[in-house]
Amino acid sequence: MIDKQHITDRFIKYITIDTESDPNNPAFPSTEKQWDLAKVLAEELKQIGMQEVDLDKNCYIMATLPSNLDYEVPTIGFIAHIDTSPDFTGANVKPKIIKNYQGNDIILNKEKNIVLSPDYFEDLLQYKGQTLITTDGTTLLGADDKAGVTEIVSAMEYLIQHPEIKHGKIRICFTPDEEVGKGAHLFNVEKFGSEWAYTMDGSQIGELEYENFNAASAKVTVTGKIVHPGYAKGKMINSMLIANEYVASLPTEETPENTEGYEGFFHLHDIQGNVEQTILEYIIRDHDLDLFEKRKKLMQRIADDFNEEFNQELIHIDIKNQYFNMKEKITPVMHIIDIAEEVMLENNIKPLIKPIRGGTDGSQLSYKGLPCPNIFAGGHNFHGRFEYVPVESMLKATEVIVGIAEKIANKYA
Ligand SMILES: [Zn+2]
Repeated sequence: MIDKQHITDRFIKYITIDTESDPNNPAFPSTEKQWDLAKVLAEELKQIGMQEVDLDKNCYIMATLPSNLDYEVPTIGFIAHIDTSPDFTGANVKPKIIKNYQGNDIILNKEKNIVLSPDYFEDLLQYKGQTLITTDGTTLLGADDKAGVTEIVSAMEYLIQHPEIKHGKIRICFTPDEEVGKGAHLFNVEKFGSEWAYTMDGSQIGELEYENFNAASAKVTVTGKIVHPGYAKGKMINSMLIANEYVASLPTEETPENTEGYEGFFHLHDIQGNVEQTILEYIIRDHDLDLFEKRKKLMQRIADDFNEEFNQELIHIDIKNQYFNMKEKITPVMHIIDIAEEVMLENNIKPLIKPIRGGTDGSQLSYKGLPCPNIFAGGHNFHGRFEYVPVESMLKATEVIVGIAEKIANKYA
């Protein structure tokens, strides 16, 4: 259907442009170099025949594929992000192409003895006989999310070249700064003007995600009292020791390293302290909204108990909601999941529907009024040197985009 070499070349063109984002820069976009890819994409979209190609001042690219129907169907959208994770360098990506992979160890870098092995990354074995694109062991690959960008551009190009395939109006958007949590921040939902959308930003083939964590941060400030240790009896309050008790009062099994699936957690990720003051930084995560609220209340109640016991405000808690489970916004429009699932099954892809143990730009967009589940882009081992993507998975994701467009045209005929 779509040419394998063509999609490979397109992907390689994108990943060799460095677009690493920066969590410490409040500017928009957070790095100037994201413009390098944005400009290439805007030009390419015009070239393949997309309409209303617009690269705005915040580095968001939007474009339209007009409907070729003589009846009304909902306008839908496809979204991917152009930046790569600041967790690992994305400069000078030198991809390796492994054709007809046989399930063996892949030597990414002989000099540095960096090996991508199915002994450790078992998922590799499902791609025997396929073409893998890997790193040279010194950078990330950028399949997150340039695979998604590649698939959207390729699907639009295919639809333009095959006017016999019927589809409604399709909007696409490429955003900057997803990896630093800001991809949805300046996303203009009204301007995008679609009824719903899909982010092409999942991992392995088949993934279809519409549940993510409810998320909050909690800053626990423990105030002690410093007195000369020689005269401290009955007077000193050591904030570090109180903080230690506070930590131990939370359910010790409910931590990231002890939970999976739908299990939520409290994650202590930073401690700063001395006798006078200790600050504990937590994040709270749960898919279930009730349990999420209970977790927040528990943190408060433990603090209240301490304060009561000491008869003063020893512990102060500041809890801030960060994002919410998009499920709330998707359940009322479940047909948008059903359509994606049906298309996968028709293309011999086994849908893998599972909760995301994190957030997505799609969840923020869903709460901004654009229901936005997430579909696989095909890559594995994101944000590091072992990242790879099978070309066949990118082809399948492209087929899914085309298939969704086609299905909506048929459904509303
Ligand atoms: Zn991503």
